[in-house]
Amino acid sequence: MKISRIGKEIPPFIVMDVLERAQELERQGENIIHLEVGEPDFETPKCIRERATEALRKGITHYTHSLGAYNLRCEIAEYYNEEYELRSKVKPENVIVTSGTSPALPLIFGAILDRDDEVILSNPHYPCYPNMIKFVGGKPRFVFVREEEGFQLNPEDVKEAITKKTKAILINSPANPTGNLLSPEWMEEIASFGIPVISDEIYHGLVYKGEAKSILEFAEKDRELIALNGFSKFFAMTGWRLGYIIAPQDLIRPIQKMIQNLFISPNAFVQEAAISALSECEEETEKMRRIYDERRRFMIKRLREIGFGITVEPTGAFYVFANAKRFANDSYKFAFDILEKAKVGVAPGIDFGSGGEGYIRFSYANSLDNITEGLARIERFLAN
Ligand code: PMP
Repeated sequence: MKISRIGKEIPPFIVMDVLERAQELERQGENIIHLEVGEPDFETPKCIRERATEALRKGITHYTHSLGAYNLRCEIAEYYNEEYELRSKVKPENVIVTSGTSPALPLIFGAILDRDDEVILSNPHYPCYPNMIKFVGGKPRFVFVREEEGFQLNPEDVKEAITKKTKAILINSPANPTGNLLSPEWMEEIASFGIPVISDEIYHGLVYKGEAKSILEFAEKDRELIALNGFSKFFAMTGWRLGYIIAPQDLIRPIQKMIQNLFISPNAFVQEAAISALSECEEETEKMRRIYDERRRFMIKRLREIGFGITVEPTGAFYVFANAKRFANDSYKFAFDILEKAKVGVAPGIDFGSGGEGYIRFSYANSLDNITEGLARIERFLAN
């Protein structure tokens, strides 16, 4: 078959390639420690699983409204209003439920970008962002972020990158791959440029020092702000595929029409279970957060002992983005060497853009025992 330009040119998600090679090695009998995947190792909290089972028993198994079940949209609005003291600014009518945060991104880009319109984003960045922008005909415009600034998106650099074609600024705090938070001051400055801001808040809740602000806290007249979030990370629900968008009213109908055409609606019984996630499992999420924090501190300490560079300690998500330039400049080759020789999966910095070259992303979404063993293997490998 003749393959389209997009079909040929869309890059792979390299972390998935590492994971798939690791699984192949496991099938051959090797023991691999996984520090590459951005997926909670915890089970989904019990109350969520029980609510889903109950929903199936009750027969909540049909299409829902294309924007999502109204009771969940109410719950999401209430959750955001309470979590961020938004004084009831978020209405259920501003909420769109999607089958994961991933589909929310091309839906938003599809609704605001015409051909060659630009979206400003950091480099390094979550690997899929530019690919999704290009998928709908837009263009990513990268702003390099500095290790010594904790990889934060500097508003001065953002300002310089704005052109006539700029349709949005995309931010992500806590960030993947760097695990760092954008300061409230810089966030506010970015929100004040008169350009719509899209804020990927999927790692909210996984914060160990400081505070993650929602972009919606900076809402003022005429500011166009969009928050997206999902259940995958904070609630350990990656396989359930559920996310949401909170957007100004004029964006709702265009996105709704796309959902009707592309997806019809998100999963019915998963939406029912998500109500429990938002309202009933604070104890369990707090327990997971405390465990992640313990692993975070341990991992930072050990990586520094081994010789990796960590200038600003990451305080969110479950990643440490460590400078590996002392050991190698080709992060792709280095990551696969670590996998083949030390039997540890890690994510090469280059997956996250040219600004990530020379770095390795380590995920602490794995047990303390596995992290200990994985880092010991890497230490032995580097000593040889
Ligand atoms: N945004 C970021 C920054 C992510 O790291 C991820 C998952 N790795 C997603 C969005 C997508 O998450 P999901 O589709 O599982 O909601």
